[in-house]
Amino acid sequence: MSIVVQKYGGSSVADVTRIRQVAERVMRTRCEGHEVVVVVSAMGETTDELLALAKQVSPNPERRELDMLLTAGERISMALLSMAIRELGGDAISFTGSQSGIITNDRHVDARIVEVRPFRVQDELARGRIVVIAGYQGVSYRREVTTLGRGGSDTTAVAMAAALGADYCEICSDVSGVYTADPRVVPDARRIGELSYEEAQELAEAGAKVLNAQAVEFAKEKGIAIYARATSSPLPGDDPSADGTVVRRHPPRMPGAVVGVASERDTILLELDGTAEPAGPQPPAVDELLALLDAHGVAGKQLHLAGGRLTLVISRENLHAEARVREALARRFGGGVRLHDDLGAVSVVGAGINASFENLRRGSRALEDGGLPPRAVATSSFRVTWMIERRSVDDAVRVLHGTFLP
Ligand code: ADP
Ligand code: ASP
Ligand code: MG
Repeated sequence: MSIVVQKYGGSSVADVTRIRQVAERVMRTRCEGHEVVVVVSAMGETTDELLALAKQVSPNPERRELDMLLTAGERISMALLSMAIRELGGDAISFTGSQSGIITNDRHVDARIVEVRPFRVQDELARGRIVVIAGYQGVSYRREVTTLGRGGSDTTAVAMAAALGADYCEICSDVSGVYTADPRVVPDARRIGELSYEEAQELAEAGAKVLNAQAVEFAKEKGIAIYARATSSPLPGDDPSADGTVVRRHPPRMPGAVVGVASERDTILLELDGTAEPAGPQPPAVDELLALLDAHGVAGKQLHLAGGRLTLVISRENLHAEARVREALARRFGGGVRLHDDLGAVSVVGAGINASFENLRRGSRALEDGGLPPRAVATSSFRVTWMIERRSVDDAVRVLHGTFLP
């Protein structure tokens, strides 16, 4: 029998009615003769609510305790969905991440999956059961409960699909696939039928929430095709790529073509002036700064170091003890480190778009002409990213979409 892994996001299980609808979709899949593994997110905004609750008790909550708290969200939805499936006559059993064999490293709050040991899941499938798994969570080798970073249920689903040798992995959400921009921001954004792993990963890293970056990385490594579609969509027929977006290895499109625009609103641009320090490839201040960020579990991207000056961009998504990090930075570096927190990042993504500087120049010009002067620019082989005043991020997305994907 073929195995299908389906992941349902928070909005798809936000209330009892929607949980019942998901249960019906799962049952229809089962009735088509598949073995079904379902991965669920926490109901609606539960994860945000739990985080807000933690902040009321402690402005700098311990990462371990946050994980104990946040994993409760998915535990609620897994049990309710399992009950709803049983009400429809299905035979379902729910498992936490730990019970389903998701083994991670011990970096709390944004742990990485290192191994999946899906023995209990396989046993239950062999008994004919539908297995419902709490997404976004695992257990470390030290038997500590961990979470996989915001949006991490996608990663659970892909990792489980790979470990089980599933036929396909569906990521079901409130949008019918990956669009050329967030359809909430750009109403005329278009659905992208097919994406390569690299394009999807860059879009996700640039802030397109619909797919999680680590999930795409995992899919690429294991050669798993991801089908992103709406929970309300019909079940896939013989050709599961007929609707939504399929992410898989596929021949490159026209080099230099922009596939999408993505943005991340909540970022901090960190600047270190280490020029007062002794010269060298990595002045001591830089080394100390990076060690301090690592010690606080802060992840940075777009790091640039030249002549003792360093800049990097910190995403606030998995940063939950910002005040403590700021204090530590001020104590060690005083005015030597500056944090700009009035900025967001807007990116255009596509293979080969930086073969020349044309796209960069075109985008910068469009932003200037639109009265949205960028404060910084960075490139990688698949992406150009402009740092823009946070309140103008959505306008910048619309300007860049209009320019590159009219
Ligand atoms: P789920 O709870 O199902 O995981 P998410 O909220 O994580 O859903 O992701 C779905 C949301 O991602 C959509 O509601 C949409 O607003 C947003 N989004 C951002 N960028 C894109 C994009 N390029 N294509 C589709 N949706 C996007
Ligand atoms: N519930 C978690 C979050 O809100 C994980 C997920 O939805 O994928 O980030
Ligand atoms: Mg998500």
